[in-house]
This record gives sequence, C-alpha cells and structure tokens, in this order.
Amino acid sequence: MIAFTSMNPCAPKRALPNYSQSPNLVGLTHDKLTAQLQSLGVPERALKMRTRQVWHWLYHRGVRSFDDMTNVSKELRALLCSSARIGRPEVIREQISKDGTRKWLLRFDDGEEVETVFIPEDDRGTLCVSSQVGCTLNCTFCHTGTQKLVRNLGPAEIVGQLLVARDALGEWPSPPDGRLVSNIVLMGMGEPMYNFDNVAEAVKIMMDGEGLSLSKRRITLSTAGVVPIMARCGDELGVNLAVSLHAVTDQVRDQIVPLNRKYPIAELMAACRAYPGLNNARRITFEYIMLKGINDSDADARKLIKLLKDCPAKVNLIPFNPWPGVAYETSDPDTIKRFSDMVYAAGISAPVRKTRGQDIMAACGQLKSDSVRLSRADRDRAAATANP
Ligand code: SAH
Repeated sequence: MIAFTSMNPCAPKRALPNYSQSPNLVGLTHDKLTAQLQSLGVPERALKMRTRQVWHWLYHRGVRSFDDMTNVSKELRALLCSSARIGRPEVIREQISKDGTRKWLLRFDDGEEVETVFIPEDDRGTLCVSSQVGCTLNCTFCHTGTQKLVRNLGPAEIVGQLLVARDALGEWPSPPDGRLVSNIVLMGMGEPMYNFDNVAEAVKIMMDGEGLSLSKRRITLSTAGVVPIMARCGDELGVNLAVSLHAVTDQVRDQIVPLNRKYPIAELMAACRAYPGLNNARRITFEYIMLKGINDSDADARKLIKLLKDCPAKVNLIPFNPWPGVAYETSDPDTIKRFSDMVYAAGISAPVRKTRGQDIMAACGQLKSDSVRLSRADRDRAAATANP
C-alpha cells in the first residue's frame, strides 16, 4: 500500500485525494493573499514581503509548485506545500488549428468545463477568455445561448485560463514585450458583466505590474449591453469595451439579443457615449454579426452610421458562424463587403473579422459545442494526450 505521507504534497493534484480543499493562492487580490498568508501562520512582520514574493512567483514566474519559490524560506515553502495550493484548471483537451489557433478545454475542481482560445496574429496574440459556464442571455445566433447558465467563474478560474495558456505556450517568466499572449478579450462563454465582481478581480490581477502586467489597453471586455454595469467597467478597470450590437432597430435586436428588451438600443447607446475614458483614440468596438436577410441591408448600414454618429466607435463585422440546427445563414460575401464599404465611407472603420480556428470549432459562438457531444471516455483519452 502506498503511504500518502511519503508523497510530495506539491505533486500534481491527482496524487492527494483532498488536495483541492486546501486554499488556492491563485486568484486572490493582494489584500486577500496577505490575509490568506496570515491565516496560514506567516508572522505579521513578514507579511508584506512574503505577499510580494509569492505574487512574483505566481504571476511573473508562473511556477506551479511552492518548491520552486527559491527565495522563500524553506519553512514557509513547507508550510505552503502542506496547507495551500497553486490551483490551475485542468487541461482536458488541446486542439491546434491549421492557422495556429489553439483551443483548450479546461475542467475546474467541480467538474465544470469551459473553453479558452488563443489566436496568434502578425502583430499580436489574443487570448479569448470565458467568464461563465453557460450563459443566461439566450442570443438566438449563439451556441452558448443554447446552454443554460451553470455558474459564474471565480477569479482564480478566470486568471487560471491565462496561466494555463502561458504554460502551454511556455511563456514564463512574463516577458516585458514581444509576448505571445499580448491581448486578452473577454469574449468566450458567458456575459462578463453578469459576473462583474469576479471578472474585475481577475482583470486587476492580470493588469498588476508586478505580475502578469497586461496593460488595460490590451484588455477588452465584450458585453451584450448590461447598461447599469458599463460605467463601473470604465471607472474601475479602464479596459476597452466591445458591445455586441448586432442590430439597429429594437424590433430586430429584441429578437436576436433578448437582453435588448431590458436595455433597449437608445439606453445602450447613451451608456456607450458616457463610457469613461472614451475619446477618438480610444473607441468602443461595436460587434455586428452578419445574418442573411436579418440585419444586413443598406438601410441597416445607414441606421448603424446614424446610431454611432456621436460616439467614438469602430465596427467589427463578424460573419455568422453557423452551428448544427441553427436557423440563420451568413450574409453573402458581397453583401458583407457592401455593408463594410458603406460604413467606411461614413468615416467609421468597419473591417470584416476573419474567422479563425474553424477546423477546431474555435470560432465565435462555437465554444464547447462539440465537447458536450464527446463521451467521458473520449475526453479522458484526450486528457491523457494533453497531460502526458
Ligand atoms: N456575452 C458577451 C461575450 C460573449 S460572446 C457578449 O455578448 O458580447 C462574444 C461575441 O461572439 C459576441 O459579439 C457574440 O455576439 C459573438 N457570437 C456569438 N455567437 C456567434 C456566432 N455563431 N457567430 C459569430 N459570432 C458569434
């Protein structure tokens, strides 16, 4: 029989049955980390220094074991090994697209799963992060909308997506520039503004200059338009805002983004115009999904231009990504081009978003759509490949 006491308590999670019950040091703000270290027995006089050291190892160096925190005293390392953990989501599956896009299926302690996508481009690498398991919004064109909200993600689970991506890309310690993961978009599963407190804690950790050190200019939060939270997002985080507009009349938007019935277009646009920190160099991105015969006419383009008149704005036209059983079709390429040209001609940038990672179902609105169909046995086989 194997005696558990002989095991290294810093060994991977599966080695100890109750391992996940010890407190996770990932995802705590500075103050909460200090309080956690204090409750684990770190003496008052050393708290400030220890918090700084542990923070550095967690977020600048990305270590996965307390044993690697070499400037932390041996006694504290032993204490942390036996009473705390550096908790990451478990990588269940990794897929790499022909275009370099990578998608990870991640599992949390309670068995719930989300997906995170990395999209490399010439001038940046963007990580698309999820904020909830499922979603409450039920946008009719979005596959996540067909999955019920299961729960919000905690700060550790949101930051954990970045840590896991950086592990997989081998990007530790955090490089000052030329990074693979240079940008974050909260555009994965869920509505970040319906989980704002946890998202805000996670984003603050990502922005901290002593650790992951991502600039607020390189973080974008995407919302379907939760009007009462928008000002807080600008004031507290100062990150870029993307708004999933998708239609220019309440009649159409009520149908495809049901949240519009609560916060109609006029209220949404007023909140956009009032978004803190907005100016011509810092614009709101309006996402606009191109749905054949629904929102893609010349009249729609003209209304869009009118709607955005007093708001520093750019438009992102997203060709609709179909999924099995959906009633919508993508607009024709010519229609998309014509729509884009009209908006550009009015002086508003309106590029058409390139669909990335289509061969691995990593495109907008498709996250987790195939993984839910995979059997547990398939997934465990895939997990063994992802975590040899
Ligand atoms: N709830 C947030 C963030 C998640 S959705 C929001 O609504 O913004 C991220 C983006 O993907 C949104 O603009 C969403 O409308 C878009 N999207 C969802 N399903 C899509 C699909 N099938 N094809 C293209 N874009 C989609």
